[in-house]
Formats: sequence, C-alpha cells, structure tokens
Amino acid sequence: IKWTAGRGWHDAQLTPYGPLSLDPANMTLHYAQEIFEGLKAYRRPDGTVSLFRPEANAERFQRSARRLAMPELPVETFVAACDALVRQDEAWVPPHGGEESLYLRPFMIATEVGLGVRPADEYLFVVIASPAGAYFPGGVKPVSVWLSENYVRAVPGGMGFAKTGGNYAASLLAQAEAAEKGCDQVVWLDALEHKWVEEMGGMNLYFVYGNKIVTPELTGSLLAGITRDSLLQVARDLGYESEERRVSTEQWRRDTENGTLTEVFACGTAAVITPVGTVKSASGEWTQGDGTPGEVTLKLRRALLDIQTGAAEDTHGWTHPVA
Ligand code: PMP
Repeated sequence: IKWTAGRGWHDAQLTPYGPLSLDPANMTLHYAQEIFEGLKAYRRPDGTVSLFRPEANAERFQRSARRLAMPELPVETFVAACDALVRQDEAWVPPHGGEESLYLRPFMIATEVGLGVRPADEYLFVVIASPAGAYFPGGVKPVSVWLSENYVRAVPGGMGFAKTGGNYAASLLAQAEAAEKGCDQVVWLDALEHKWVEEMGGMNLYFVYGNKIVTPELTGSLLAGITRDSLLQVARDLGYESEERRVSTEQWRRDTENGTLTEVFACGTAAVITPVGTVKSASGEWTQGDGTPGEVTLKLRRALLDIQTGAAEDTHGWTHPVA
C-alpha cells in the first residue's frame, strides 16, 4: 500500500514475493525513516487460522509512525493487510499442536527520492511472511544475559518506544559484546544512571517474587511488548499478582542471593517466554535457578501459548480469526 502527500493511502496490492527496487537517493537509505512490527498466525484446533492481537500491533505501529514523522496507517487497514496475506499463504501456517507459526513482518519505508533532511512525502507499507519454527526445539532452556554498561539502546526523549530499525542498529555492537562475554543476550539499562533494568535485546523482562510477577514500568525508552501486556493480565487470571515498577540491577542480584526473587524470564512474540539463568556484568555474575525453567515461567508460557493457538478459551477477545 502506498502513501503520497495530499492523496493519502492508495494502491493496495497483493503481489508475489520479490525484491524492491530503490533509487540510490531513496530517503530511507540515508535518514532511516523505517518502522516495523512482528506477529504470528497460528493454526487452531478446528483447522482455522488466527492472529494474536493484531490491533495491538497496529496501534504500536501508529505510535512508531508518529515518532518517526511518518503517516499513520489506519488500524483496520493494517489488520486487513495481514489477513489478506495470511489467506494467500494459508498453506504455510503449520498444523495445530506444536509451537510453529507463520510469522508476519509488516513494515513501512519512505520511498521519496531526495537528499534533504526532512520527513518524506511518499511511503510504502508492506507485509511479508515467513514460517517460524519452535523457538526451543529441544525444550525450554534458560538464556544467559550480559548487562550492558558501555552502550545504551535508547535515551529519554529518544525512540526507544518505537519499533524502528535504528534501535536495532544501536544494539548490534552490544549484542556482539554479550556474545564475546559468553552470553546469549544483552540486557539494557537506563541511559542516565545505568542502574535500572529496561529490557532484553528483543524481549521484555519479568521478575517472579513467589506469587507476584514484576516487570519494569514503561519509561518511554523501552518497547511496550504485546506479550508483556498480555502476561500482566494472564498472570492475574491464574491468581498471581502482577506489578509494573522499576527494578535495579542491585535488587536483581540481592534478591536472587537472598532467595526472594524466585524466577526471571523474558517475553516476546518470538519465544513467547524464555527463562533467564546466568547474569554477567563488568562487576560480577550470579545465577538464577538451577539451570531448569521455573514453575511460574512454564505455567505462564503454557497458558499464553494455549490462548494464542486456540487450545484454551480466550476470555480477553485477543485472538483474531482470519476468515
Ligand atoms: N523489546 C524489543 C526491543 C523487541 O524487539 C521486542 C519484540 N517485538 C519486544 C520487546 C517484545 O515485544 P512483543 O511482545 O510485542 O513481541
């Protein structure tokens, strides 16, 4: 679907997958006006297909667009485009029963040609799809994380809450540093004090204190994950308390060592939930749990995945049937 200043959205098309042809002076290539989303289509027990909370992705896409000075795509248009692609690619949605899905990647780029630094006057919205296997084919295993003190992902007033390529470009070097330190993932801290936990490379974090799950509050510099939001509610359905508040790295370490912090996990569309085990930083390391996933982690993961795949009743109206 194209957008042109003065004309709005026009020319929706379903075309075979193939390369985009871009002018070397395409404004996205130079000034990075680009935003994207990620969501999954699952096969339900009755053979039909549904998307999980596509309206929430559409709304986040609008917030990202506003921050990048791009036009907002109506929620209904975003969802209709996802539906149309899933209908076309239905054969690629795996059978019900596993954790496999068809992953959708909606994105928008500027298509205007020019070297002046200003918001472009022409854009292109595209959705592509790719089959996604189970994130943990050999069973759910804790990841190790590196607390990034040399780099920050996002600053107050910046673009942290937006899903834009620039945020991921900013994280590549820190992710490489994490790998050098023998860790699977990087954990971002706040930009001002390097003290408050924000999120993981591509997932939000949760801290389990017995019967209560705690996640860092949305400060504007971390992404408002749809899995994060869903878990705040699923946890309450299962009788846990859930709370959004600041968590410092000192608390993380101290509460692990004194045993009050019982589990830590990360959540996002890709893995749903992954346990967090060893934490490393320049000032030392500690380990959560015994190398196996915690009970609350597994219970929440099962409950959310069952809603997403249609194995359990969806009392929140989150699943969107693709007719
Ligand atoms: N934080 C970041 C930086 C991410 O890239 C993602 C993945 N979209 C998340 C958190 C989790 O968001 P969601 O639950 O919507 O996938």
